[in-house]
Amino acid sequence: MSAPMNYLDGNAAAGELSRIFAMDVTTAEGQCAHCGAIKRFAEAHLYMHAPGAVARCAACEHVLLRLVNARQRVFLDARGMTFLRLDI
Ligand SMILES: [Zn+2]
Repeated sequence: MSAPMNYLDGNAAAGELSRIFAMDVTTAEGQCAHCGAIKRFAEAHLYMHAPGAVARCAACEHVLLRLVNARQRVFLDARGMTFLRLDI
């Protein structure tokens, strides 16, 4: 018996990320800084019940990105990704 999923996929972050990026980041490919997996951001496991949103690698569950809204500011921590490759 498998544990119930308590996360959404990275597509659920599209609204929050569109406040910062002019492009759709969920279609971008990013590399996990921990395991090196390269996947579309939409494949990340998104946890919404933290103070903000936390996206984790679908391969190793390492944190890829944190996004926190605080008052009139948005804090973005993307150091869990070696790169995020956007098609322009
Ligand atoms: Zn990983």
